[in-house]
Amino acid sequence: MRYISTRGEAPALGFEDVLLTGLATDGGLYVPESLPHFSLEEIRSWRGLPYAELAFNVMYPFVEDAIPADDFRKMLEEIYSGFAHQSVAPLVQLDSNEWVMELFRGPTLAFKDFALQLLGRLLDYVLEKRKQHVVIMGATSGDTGSAAIEGCRRCEHVDIFILHPYQRVSEVQRRQMTTVQGDNIHNIAVKGNFDDCQRMVKESFGDQSFLGGKTQLAAVNSINWARIMAQIVYYFQASLALGGPDRSMAFSVPTGNFGDIFAGYLAKKMGLPISQLVIATNRNDILHRFMSGNRYEQQQLEHTLSPSMDIMVSSNFERLLFDLHGRDGAAVKDLLENAAKGPVSIEDYRWKAARKLFDSDAVDDKTTCDTIREIYEQNEYLLDPHTAIGVRAARNCRRDASVPMITLGTAHPAKFPDAIVESGLSVKPQLPPHMADLFEREERYTVLENNLAEVQGFLSKHWKNA
Ligand SMILES: *Cc1c(COP(=O)(O)O)cnc(C)c1O
Repeated sequence: MRYISTRGEAPALGFEDVLLTGLATDGGLYVPESLPHFSLEEIRSWRGLPYAELAFNVMYPFVEDAIPADDFRKMLEEIYSGFAHQSVAPLVQLDSNEWVMELFRGPTLAFKDFALQLLGRLLDYVLEKRKQHVVIMGATSGDTGSAAIEGCRRCEHVDIFILHPYQRVSEVQRRQMTTVQGDNIHNIAVKGNFDDCQRMVKESFGDQSFLGGKTQLAAVNSINWARIMAQIVYYFQASLALGGPDRSMAFSVPTGNFGDIFAGYLAKKMGLPISQLVIATNRNDILHRFMSGNRYEQQQLEHTLSPSMDIMVSSNFERLLFDLHGRDGAAVKDLLENAAKGPVSIEDYRWKAARKLFDSDAVDDKTTCDTIREIYEQNEYLLDPHTAIGVRAARNCRRDASVPMITLGTAHPAKFPDAIVESGLSVKPQLPPHMADLFEREERYTVLENNLAEVQGFLSKHWKNA
C-alpha cells in the first residue's frame, strides 16, 4: 500500500517510510492512497475473535509490504495480552442501548496505549531490518509521554527523551513516566512551561546537527499514520459485540487532535456500518464551531479539567478536509494557509456532506462535573473527565434511540482525580492493581535549565551509542 500527502506535493511513500517520517515534506499528513474494503460477510465472520486476531484482520492490509504476516500476528498478541482485561476493550452499559467502551486497560491507563504500544514495536522491527537507530524526542503535558515511554521500553534501536515542565505535571502523570526502568528511557524535567518544552523539540527537529550525524530524531505525535491505524480496530470490536455489522452503530468520541475519531471515520469507509460520529470537545471547541456553523477559526487556548483535549487546532482534521475536498491536495493547502491567517469556511455542499455523519458538542467544566456526578448516581460508575464529555455529547446529540450509542472511554478516572473532587463526589478513584504501588516506585529524571543547548547536550551525551 502506498501513502500520499494531504497537501499533494510530497512524494508517495511505503509503510516503513511513513512510519519513520511523521509530517510530509510539503507540510501535509500521510494517508493511504486507497483503503481496504471489507464486505459485511467478511466482517460478520470475525465475530467472537480475540482482539489481537481482529486487529490483524483489520490492519494487515496497511502493513503487508513491510512485515510478514506471522511477525505481525506475534507482535499484536504480545501487545494486547499486556492489557489488564481479557477482552482488551470491554463495554460497560450505562443505559438502554448506551455504552462506554473502556479503552484504558493498557499500561498507562489511557487509550493512547493502543497505538503507542504498537508504534514502539513497529519502529524497532523496521529499524532492526534497516540496521538503523533513532532518537525519539517529545514534549508532554500528560498522557502521550507516558504511553510513548511504555511503548518504547523494550526497543533496542530507539532511545526516547521526553521533556516535561518541571513541577507542572500531576504526580500520577509524572510517576507514570519516571518510574519506567530502561537504559534507553530518559525523562527530562525542564525548568519552564509546556510551551518551552515544545519549542525545544521543534527547534531540535529543525536542526539535528547536535546529534553529530550518528542518529536521527523521530516523532511519535498523533499525526503518525501508524497511530491512527491501530485505533480503527476497536470500532470493529465494539460493533461486533453489539450485533454489527447487521445493525449500524453511533459513536461519541472525546476529541482533541481528531486522531481517535478519524479512525472511526476510516472504519466506516472500510465497510463497518456507522451512522453517526459525535465529536465531543471541551471549551477548546474549534471543531464544534466548525461542525455547527461551517466556520473554522483558532481561538485562545483554555485550560480545562480535561487537559488531554486542550488544543487550539486539531492536526488530524486535515485528513478529513482532504477527503471532503475530493482528495485535492492543492485545495487543502490553500484552505489551511488561509486558516492560519483568519477564519475560513468550506463550500456549503462539502460541509453538508460532513454533517451527514458528524455531529458535535462542546462541554464546559461545570457540565463535565455534573455528568460525572450524574452517571455515578445513576450507575455507581466513575467517569474520567474526558469520557464524561463524550457521554454528555452522546446524550445531547443522539439521533436515533434504536441505534446503539457507544462513547469511547479514553482514560481511567484515577488519572484525573481533580475532576472527581470538583464534581462533589466523595469517592476516590483507585488505581488498578497493576498500578497500585505507583507511589512507592523509584523515579528517575533529570532536571535541566530552560536552555536549548543544555537539553541538546544532554541528548547527545546520553543516547545509547553516543
Ligand atoms: C489524547 C486524548 C484525547 C484526545 O484524543 P485525540 O485523538 O487527540 O482526539 C482524549 N482523551 C484522552 C484521555 C486523551 O489522552
